[in-house]
Amino acid sequence: MKSLIAGNWKMNGLMASLAEIERLGGLLKGGASAEVLICPPATLIAAMAPAARAIGAEVGGQDCHPKASGAHTGDIAAEMLKDAGASYVIVGHSERRADHGESSAVVKAKAEAARRAGLTPIVCVGETEAERRAGKQEAVVGEQLAGSLPDGAGPLVIAYEPVWAIGTGLTPTIEDIAAMHRFIRQKAGAGVRILYGGSVKPSNAAEILAVEDVNGALVGGASLKADDFYAIISAA
Ligand code: PEP
Repeated sequence: MKSLIAGNWKMNGLMASLAEIERLGGLLKGGASAEVLICPPATLIAAMAPAARAIGAEVGGQDCHPKASGAHTGDIAAEMLKDAGASYVIVGHSERRADHGESSAVVKAKAEAARRAGLTPIVCVGETEAERRAGKQEAVVGEQLAGSLPDGAGPLVIAYEPVWAIGTGLTPTIEDIAAMHRFIRQKAGAGVRILYGGSVKPSNAAEILAVEDVNGALVGGASLKADDFYAIISAA
């Protein structure tokens, strides 16, 4: 299974940031053994898509609405992301589950909307620090998977992102990452790519990406700078 290295720019990036794509292209020099994806803010997708294609990378959204159109001020449909040049969309990121009160049922509807529009959903799951301390991580992630994954067959990526590891510099032990990815593999089946996310950086990427059932990474902070992102892609 080809690894997927996905960058989540979150609410960062202006038109000037497109220069990072050119810089990344210079580093990749036309080739990477991993599939490379960048999920910029929605305002940059249309401008970034041709630049990303030119360096062999793809572009994705960070969220979508479950419906294709309608009276939903400020929201973006999966069809709009596709039209702007996206091929993936992240759904159920813990920041959206927390900041916007997104339930697993809402995340599932968004994942199904992504497939309807011809996008591959990247469904995020992960436990909080308190849940891990209480030993409930598999129960929590199992419940999120049962509630958030789209019904039926179709393209799907799952990102395991422990909430306490996002943007903190903390990561689970390699054994804990392996155990959770094994658990998710049992639930998701053989063909689904399972990404690890949470403080992936150049210094820990090779060790994490070598773990069985880790099929790539979802990278936040370290995806904003071409040099760091390239180092992670090279580790895959
Ligand atoms: C993320 O938010 O998806 C993420 C993994 O962030 P970071 O790499 O900054 O921890």
